[in-house]
Amino acid sequence: MKGTEIIVKALKEEGVDTIFGYPGGQAVDIFDALYGEKEIEVILPRHEQALIHAADGYARSTGKVGVCLVTSGPGATNLVTGIATANYDSVPLVCITGQVPLGLMGNDAFQEVDIVGITNSICKYAVTVRTREELPRILKEAFYIARTGRPGPVVVDIPKDIQQAEGSDAYPEEVNMRGYKPNQSVHVGQIKKAVSMLKRAKKPLFLIGGGVNISGANEEMRQLAETTGVPVITTIMGKGAIPSDHRLYLGNIGIHGSYAANHAVSECDVLFSIGTRFNDRITGKISEFAKNAKIIHIDIDSASISKNIVVDIPIVADARLAIMKLLEYVAPLKNEKWVEQLLQWKEEYPITMNNYDGLTPEKIIQYINNHFESPIVTTDVGQNQLWATQYLELQSGRHFLTSGGLGTMGYGFPAAIGAKIGNPESTVIAISGDGGMQMNIQELATAVALELPLILIVLNNGYLGNVRQWQELFYQKRYSNTCLRYRKSCEDNCTDKSKCCPKYTPDFIKLAESYEAYGIRISKEEEIARAFDYALGHKNAPTIIECVIEREANVFPIVPTGKTLDDMIMD
Ligand code: FAD
Repeated sequence: MKGTEIIVKALKEEGVDTIFGYPGGQAVDIFDALYGEKEIEVILPRHEQALIHAADGYARSTGKVGVCLVTSGPGATNLVTGIATANYDSVPLVCITGQVPLGLMGNDAFQEVDIVGITNSICKYAVTVRTREELPRILKEAFYIARTGRPGPVVVDIPKDIQQAEGSDAYPEEVNMRGYKPNQSVHVGQIKKAVSMLKRAKKPLFLIGGGVNISGANEEMRQLAETTGVPVITTIMGKGAIPSDHRLYLGNIGIHGSYAANHAVSECDVLFSIGTRFNDRITGKISEFAKNAKIIHIDIDSASISKNIVVDIPIVADARLAIMKLLEYVAPLKNEKWVEQLLQWKEEYPITMNNYDGLTPEKIIQYINNHFESPIVTTDVGQNQLWATQYLELQSGRHFLTSGGLGTMGYGFPAAIGAKIGNPESTVIAISGDGGMQMNIQELATAVALELPLILIVLNNGYLGNVRQWQELFYQKRYSNTCLRYRKSCEDNCTDKSKCCPKYTPDFIKLAESYEAYGIRISKEEEIARAFDYALGHKNAPTIIECVIEREANVFPIVPTGKTLDDMIMD
């Protein structure tokens, strides 16, 4: 069998039915081997960055490994941002990159880059295949590494001569890697210690992160909260771990977290955290984080434990297995006063945009909450993302896809394409800003070609809104390079939004139409329902709903850099 044929065989053996690919000189042989292949659909996005975000959206929403196939040089380097995005957020991807023939490597050959060297620090594993014999084993290991332990992206770089070389047709059934043995058990002694600490607590709190959604422990987590009666807060990656409308759920923690969630962390005496890596967006000033609490931490990756926050009881385990074990030992706790206090904060200090008139992101997202059952929602990065994390109600994990760790603008729309391909029966809605939407706008061609009825919400404020907000609050309104309506003829240092601004470019509606997609622009609350009805009327094409919102609407609460969670600015 040729190398290219064993690659196709490997994909089938690993259960891959969809790959995201963009051809080029050093990948053309692999594409040739895929030609006419019935069991594997090859999706052709219009840019490799969008391609990997689409594979990422497919992987996050299905739990399967997303597969990318690109050529060497620029094809490979265009994946870099997506690889780092997936790495931070623990997304299983296998990225196959074509490479120049072995004999040309190191010669500055045409379209040659050392993609393994470039990606080593931003992926779970990267390797160049050096012989035809090792190709099947490396592919087997790549899928195994991507999907086990803390999931992540793997890069397999395959020189063209190895793709063309003949060799055995055997594909290994098992993996045996001495240096990589993910933990598949739970240390019962540590679980008992944790339960005993929880029992002694007067003010216990569960902090739930992305690892709970990744492990699919949503039902078990709900049971754990209900059995113990302990309130739950989540990171934005943990959102959906228990239903957002659950009585015991207090909201997100972090620099844009809710009052109840952030203050609960500062007040609790036991913080029981599961599947979070204590990123600086959630801790605020580290020395003050949960300063009254003993901390228990369950995480599948020992490297995440005591990395940012030193913990008292570490448990290295899969979240679902660990929670199932906990359920064998826990009993109801008596913390009524503590729970009452937190529920009172939740009621007294809700997150809302009621102080803004007209069409607000809150109202748009509330419409989604009220009219769609379990849609998959992707976001871009910036204010659009933060409003979505604040207002979106979720019944389960895997329905909310956002670039949390890297904060990659341009993620939301292509991720929605991947999510829809992986979940054809689900409604898929992408919420973007006008800045991020333009970073991968060319994917309208892909969505139209694939006849995907995506709902693409563009919250248009004419600014790179999140940075503008920082400039407003912390840089005396010096709006340096954040206005997207700027023209060369504008006044220098304009800070007055009431001045007559030039027309916005692009016209999203005409742009959508030029791709043979649909578009509708709204600027009033009363128009929301009509816009969604219009979008739902298109069964075989995407629709942009451009929402013209208050130009200087802000995301509150916010914790300024270097401050504690208690220092949050509410309004
Ligand atoms: P991840 O980063 O996804 O980490 C998951 C953890 O779970 C890892 O430690 C991993 O090892 C572990 N894990 C994986 N699989 C398993 C398993 N099977 N079992 C057990 N453990 C597992 N985030 C907030 O929460 N609040 C904010 O206010 C906030 N503001 C932001 C603002 C902006 C503009 C942006 C771009 C991002 C913001 N974020 C915020 C996101 C933030 O940067 C991090 O992405 C997020 O806090 C990480 O959450 P996490 O640690 O729970 O999840």
